[in-house]
Amino acid sequence: MSIALDISPLDKSELIANRRWLHQNPELKFQEHKSSCFIAEKLTEFGYKIQTNIAKTGVVALADTMRPGPTLMLRADMDALPVKEENSLDYVSTNNGVMHACGHDGHMAMLLSAAKQLSKITPELSGKLKLVFQPGEEGGNGALRMIEEGVLESPKVDAAFGIHLWNGLPVGTVGVINGPVMASVDEFNIVVKGRGGHGAMPHQTIDAILAACQIVTSLQTVVSRNVNPLDSAVVTVGSIRAGEAFNVIAEEAFLRGTVRTFSNELYKEIPDIFNRVVTHTAAALGAECTIKYERLGPPTINNLTMADFVRQIASEVVGKENVISDDRARTMAGEDMAYFLARVPGCFFFVGSQNESKGLTHPHHSPFFNFDEEALPIGVEILKRITTNFLKHGEK
Ligand SMILES: [Zn+2]
Ligand SMILES: [Zn+2]
Repeated sequence: MSIALDISPLDKSELIANRRWLHQNPELKFQEHKSSCFIAEKLTEFGYKIQTNIAKTGVVALADTMRPGPTLMLRADMDALPVKEENSLDYVSTNNGVMHACGHDGHMAMLLSAAKQLSKITPELSGKLKLVFQPGEEGGNGALRMIEEGVLESPKVDAAFGIHLWNGLPVGTVGVINGPVMASVDEFNIVVKGRGGHGAMPHQTIDAILAACQIVTSLQTVVSRNVNPLDSAVVTVGSIRAGEAFNVIAEEAFLRGTVRTFSNELYKEIPDIFNRVVTHTAAALGAECTIKYERLGPPTINNLTMADFVRQIASEVVGKENVISDDRARTMAGEDMAYFLARVPGCFFFVGSQNESKGLTHPHHSPFFNFDEEALPIGVEILKRITTNFLKHGEK
């Protein structure tokens, strides 16, 4: 593995110590008070001008080179999950039932380390560097809230980059994708209304359970018969609830699930297809239904130029052969970095953090999740190089 890292042993041990402190002190979305204070204190110490309490617990730091040039934004998410940690580590979560099971502790630690190292060289650069520590990524849309509170303005952000440590890729690799990298997330709740009655007299009823089952089956055609097979989408019914007794035909049934897409075009079209299939399937059986269809986030789409830029830098750091740009570096999970990338060009990329020989293979959100900390200096190096290349003195 040819890894070009420029980090002192002291900075590396600080990077790991910070990650472990954050891991021990995980906080749920919009409650990241301790993490926020920890970050704000360090950034102030490094000489950044900071703003706190953005989107409740977010922190934004600015370094102004006082030379004209673009504004670059680097983003790390801060929140943990309502998962009870099952790892036995010396730095296991001390907040019972809450765990950094997605790697956001690593994201904060990497951005802090990059901030520290960059603070020494920003005077040689042009433009401005904005560091964004964002709360509430896990189903909180903290990115959107930060945008509403002006994080992309004053100074106006020209490009945005973010990392996700990724246990789907081995440590020493980096995943960079052109275009869509993570999916949109929609949530649906359907109430199917029939007419209840005696289990022995179906002709007097409209069976909500049968209608719900038909809807589940029909929903399988949303992707298989409506979506271009070269495009990607998922429809999952995650919950079905109806009926109480063996001899009663249920009056109502409840379905709940998620719809995900990759392309912006499909993201626009899919609610109509979904509504058509559900409504008409119910109607065919004489049932009625109410659909609550919520959009929780658009697809995360990388700008091609920015993805190429990151790919080039990642190749310098881990070697060209370790930069992955195929489906191993894409997922139908959602990510609210999407909101930033829908507004400014940028790239969200994966830094491989899985290590089979150390047993670090558990997936994100697992109570056994942990990542190889050797991934952290790789992420830091890439963040540093993105900054120095993007804010090169005299070239912009
Ligand atoms: Zn997650
Ligand atoms: Zn995450």
